[in-house]
Amino acid sequence: MSITQDQQLTDIVIGDLMISSEKVAHVQLNNPLEHALLVLVKSGYSAVPVLDATYKLVGTIGKTVILNEILGLERFEFEKLSEMQVKDIMNTEIPTLSKDDTFMDGLKSVINYPFVCVTDDEGYFDGILTRRAILKYMRKDYYLSKNM
Ligand code: AMP
Repeated sequence: MSITQDQQLTDIVIGDLMISSEKVAHVQLNNPLEHALLVLVKSGYSAVPVLDATYKLVGTIGKTVILNEILGLERFEFEKLSEMQVKDIMNTEIPTLSKDDTFMDGLKSVINYPFVCVTDDEGYFDGILTRRAILKYMRKDYYLSKNM
């Protein structure tokens, strides 16, 4: 994040606020669910992006969908964790942003999602924008404008 004090809200673009790809935990299409659950539990995140072998964004996967998938009638069917892959149950209906999108585009997109993935024109993964980053920036902007 490289935002200067005199930058207006309208000057801010998603690239200024996003967490860049190298700092984002992700899983790959062909990973077994066991690996995805491990990444989610160890990182403490509720969901992470799913990338293909070329690092293009293909979806997201979260703890709840994995636990629902392995929930049988009377027990968790843990054997499914190694039998099934991320691509079998990941969510592919996800919004995306690009680095040049505006602060307002970001604000609208995180109303319904705790984070939104950022991609380039060819679909390669650039990072994520979190609701937290938007709220933190709005709070900062509010205090700066009060002190002007
Ligand atoms: P936060 O606003 O930090 O609570 O993050 C909200 C959600 O964004 C988390 O639950 C994760 O799903 C995702 N997230 C945030 N930071 C990361 C990260 N570094 N790597 C992967 N996912 C993340």
